[in-house]
Amino acid sequence: MVTAVNDYLPISALQHYAYCPRQFALIHIEQSWSDNRFTAEGHILHERVDSGEKEKRGVLRYERSVQLISRDYRIRGRMDLLEIELGNSPRYFPVEYKRGKPKIEGWDRIQLCAQALCIEEMKSTQVSEGAIWYWEVRRRETVALSDELRRITVTTIKEAREVFAKGLTPPPIDKKQRCRACSLVDLCQPNTFRQDASTRYVKQLGE
Ligand code: SF4
Repeated sequence: MVTAVNDYLPISALQHYAYCPRQFALIHIEQSWSDNRFTAEGHILHERVDSGEKEKRGVLRYERSVQLISRDYRIRGRMDLLEIELGNSPRYFPVEYKRGKPKIEGWDRIQLCAQALCIEEMKSTQVSEGAIWYWEVRRRETVALSDELRRITVTTIKEAREVFAKGLTPPPIDKKQRCRACSLVDLCQPNTFRQDASTRYVKQLGE
């Protein structure tokens, strides 16, 4: 939900928008939320990650549950882990934890990239890569913060902000397999909505 001071979008909202604009609107405009097994497992994972202390090993420092903000993009949030290679020009490496497994679609990478944009602004630095650690496969995937990923992330921020400003919930997406994993499927009723829309369409054709 966009509850932050003024109109800063939570970084996690970008992932919702990239997954499904309707899901984004149900959560952040209508303020509906429903846990399913996937989201409940995700909360447990993040609680474990967030409970960690700062740690230093050699030239590396590990900071957990780091608060982030970008005034340029008007986003804010918290990241799971920030690895810092200490030195005259410290190197920052964001790490996000996810309960599932690596995906072809980019919504996890968009969230990571948004975190990197915040770090760059907060630390006046350049972040060239980060990683997503996937609990289900116990694997860390390195993500290059390419120009293309940055472009997609900035576009997602812009579009999500526009939907939020309009305050209108978009129709369901066509990708029905996403609906099957969506925690809001019962609230959203995508099939009923699609049926109503096609009935309306057929009716309009007959008028
Ligand atoms: S059920 Fe489908 S259309 Fe509805 S919010 Fe979830 S992903 Fe989007």
